[in-house]
Amino acid sequence: MPVRGMLVRLTDAWQDILQRHRDGGGYPAAVTELLGEMTAAATLMQANIKFNGALIMQIMGDGPVKLAVAEVQPDLSLRATATVKGEVAADAPLSHMVNVNNQGRCAITLDPKDRLPGQQPYQGVVPLFGDKREKLERLSDVIEHYMLQSEQLDTRLVLAADDKMAAGLLIQRLPLQGEGNLAGQSVARDEDQIGQNEDYNRIAILASSLKREELLGLDADTILHRLFWEEKLLRFEPLMGETGPRFSCTCSRERVSNMLRGLGRDEVESILTEQGQVEVGCEFCGAQYRFDPVDAAQVFLQPEIQPPGSPGVH
Ligand SMILES: [Zn+2]
Repeated sequence: MPVRGMLVRLTDAWQDILQRHRDGGGYPAAVTELLGEMTAAATLMQANIKFNGALIMQIMGDGPVKLAVAEVQPDLSLRATATVKGEVAADAPLSHMVNVNNQGRCAITLDPKDRLPGQQPYQGVVPLFGDKREKLERLSDVIEHYMLQSEQLDTRLVLAADDKMAAGLLIQRLPLQGEGNLAGQSVARDEDQIGQNEDYNRIAILASSLKREELLGLDADTILHRLFWEEKLLRFEPLMGETGPRFSCTCSRERVSNMLRGLGRDEVESILTEQGQVEVGCEFCGAQYRFDPVDAAQVFLQPEIQPPGSPGVH
């Protein structure tokens, strides 16, 4: 059948991320849920397309959650952070957090590993509303919309997260064309259309019946059996431990130096005059980078070359 599925359950990796933000008081429950769903979704998307570079999912919100970011590298190491300004109720719906005036946006950026100078990363942006401008209340609906737009393939996503686990199930229709047999080619014409493949539709409906508590509470085997017990499954070895998703931050003193160079000597000197040193904190892992006047002078001794940006360090 032209259907592929992927299931992710982030436990240690997800708790590592949350732990990094405990010092700042931690996230409100609804933000934890949103950021966890983003992290699970970004992991599924990276594993699905196997992109040689970072996949960065960002929500630029127009409510109390100004920015939420989940970034997954090709080796599935990942990091995530959210910027919250103001109160968020524990059960706040998506729109109350990031789409109060229907101005919120979700961007997916694919940043190639060996980007040539001047080459821009690929970015797709979708709004947080549906066809009739109705506010979407599920992140999965937003991402399904993005996938349909960017890949022209039907995708069904089920996402759930709490402070213990971030989990997701992705079901995608594969293109029928190129099956290499006559039967395949004749159905291809009719069924290789959005929403037209019966096998995909049936499996997507089964996937949608998965409840949040089931996704968070059951192991992979039980979930697969419960949903697809009547289907023929070909199951692949899960990626775990060293080869699986895990927390890792890509920030470094060198990247922060590059960012300071980007700010410019005047700006950095004015911070030095005001505060005696420049202090830059990584919002993903909490690392603090300090530059006293001598360090800062060193930064500007090197030629002012702008290597590919250093997203994530603010
Ligand atoms: Zn960091």
